[in-house]
Amino acid sequence: SKVRIYTLAKDLGVDNQKLLEILDSLGVVYKSVSSTLDEDTVETIKEILAAEAAGGTPAQPGTATQGAPATDTTDAATETDAAPAAAPTPAAPQPTPKDDVTPTPAAPTPTPAQAATASHAAAVAVAEAPAREIPHRSPVVTIMGHVDHGKTSLLDYIRKTKVAAKEAGGITQHVGAFEAQTSKGRIVFIDTPGHEAFTTIRARGANVADIAIIVVAADDSIMPQTREAIAHAQAAKVPLIVAINKVDLPQADVDRVKTDLTMVNLVPEEFGGDTVVVPVSAKTGEGVEDLLEYISLTAELEDLRADPNGEFSGVIIESKVDRQAGVLATVMVQEGTINVGDFLVVGETYGKIKAMTDSLGGRIKSAGPSTPVQVLGFSEAPVSGDKVASASNEHAAREKVAVRVDTRRTVEEARAQRKLSLEEMMGSLVEVREVNLILRADTQGSVEAIQGILAKKESDDVKLNVMLAGIGAPTEGDVLLASTAEATILCFSVTASGAVKKVADQKGVDLKSFRIIYELIDEVDRLIKGNVEPVF
Ligand code: GDP
Repeated sequence: SKVRIYTLAKDLGVDNQKLLEILDSLGVVYKSVSSTLDEDTVETIKEILAAEAAGGTPAQPGTATQGAPATDTTDAATETDAAPAAAPTPAAPQPTPKDDVTPTPAAPTPTPAQAATASHAAAVAVAEAPAREIPHRSPVVTIMGHVDHGKTSLLDYIRKTKVAAKEAGGITQHVGAFEAQTSKGRIVFIDTPGHEAFTTIRARGANVADIAIIVVAADDSIMPQTREAIAHAQAAKVPLIVAINKVDLPQADVDRVKTDLTMVNLVPEEFGGDTVVVPVSAKTGEGVEDLLEYISLTAELEDLRADPNGEFSGVIIESKVDRQAGVLATVMVQEGTINVGDFLVVGETYGKIKAMTDSLGGRIKSAGPSTPVQVLGFSEAPVSGDKVASASNEHAAREKVAVRVDTRRTVEEARAQRKLSLEEMMGSLVEVREVNLILRADTQGSVEAIQGILAKKESDDVKLNVMLAGIGAPTEGDVLLASTAEATILCFSVTASGAVKKVADQKGVDLKSFRIIYELIDEVDRLIKGNVEPVF
């Protein structure tokens, strides 16, 4: 029988990271801590752990070479192994069914001796780079999904049950994020549901969420905005967890949602896939604890770290102008620490932090990684997604602003000449071309017809990535997605509104409409050849 990685970890009394390290050394390919292992692998793991406990060599091969204490070597190996192992899978959800990663590898289970060699290699590799001592940080989670599927309700439920109310009345103000205390640790939730907020931030080059929760109502299943949310999370390479909400309703049909998920290439674990699916009810609270646990497991696998003593960097997640207080901006601290009195540089302005409050409205003097803080001291309201840097004094802040103004001008000039740039010419010589597309059409039938034709156009040299295929006119969200993913938006029998066209213009996104399928396909052919007429 098969057993999940995290279950095995629990049974054996070791942490998940430790097991993943062993699996890496065995060459076992897994997708997440909820991937299953076969009996042979489980046996091998037990042998390795037993050998280790007996003071054997398998897990501490570095000792002899490095002269370092065994525990240090093992820890270091854990750190380095974890990063590359985690990266290709949960960090980059694979939308294509061609994904050839299987939970159990074709390779025969190696013996402990072979494992020792593998982890020896890892340990030696680690020795070349000094072991980092960067501490873990809490995950930042965003909730996305179709309208009315319960995003706000889910956030409210978590806030009500997991946010420690402060002395002062416990009135939590809306600052754009809140911190939930769970049995597995702290989780930071972005408080603005929906993928618009997410994409706006991403469109400005920042990524604030580590994990995306895609909420799907059990009585409604997958809807257009669900697909969009999935596309956005995938484009951002953010691992996603599906929360099937409203399971308390009599008409809830969890199985149907699971089946529908496979149609968008998110195959639930029960069906042999690797998509974590958690049934919940934002109304009764059923399953919410499980959801939080899965978030923590995913975060652990992602091995999120940030240095509180490093150089500060953060992102604006919200800002508003208060009549009395002035500009209030919420900064998500990503690296380093900010303190009252520091100078912050945002966009092409700077300000001095006069006061800071945490997400509960309490005054604080400093804030470290994965902490949302409301900052008072900017003279102009910054924009969501703006990156924030700090400077030790006013002079340094001014200088940073000057550098930014220069950089922007250079980028603008470069953009004007973009079509002729060397980089682009080189780009067209690269062997495998990837053409990113967003499709919009009037009916599901047209969408499928176009996708069918496109599928046949793919070759060894050209990969067509349809990042999003939707019914109806393109939205601003599509444009933002296209802009971050350098995709072309192709519309069939639908046209963009003036507002959307304007944003596309501003962002330099190609947005084209067609009334005849074959004209659209001709355009795709041109994109494939890479000799598209420049649009000015
Ligand atoms: P959002 O648009 O995704 O933020 O959805 P809301 O949170 O506003 O929820 C839409 C509607 O669904 C509201 O009337 C909620 O009360 C209801 N709702 C949300 N979650 C649940 C749930 O788990 N069970 C039931 N029965 N209703 C829910």
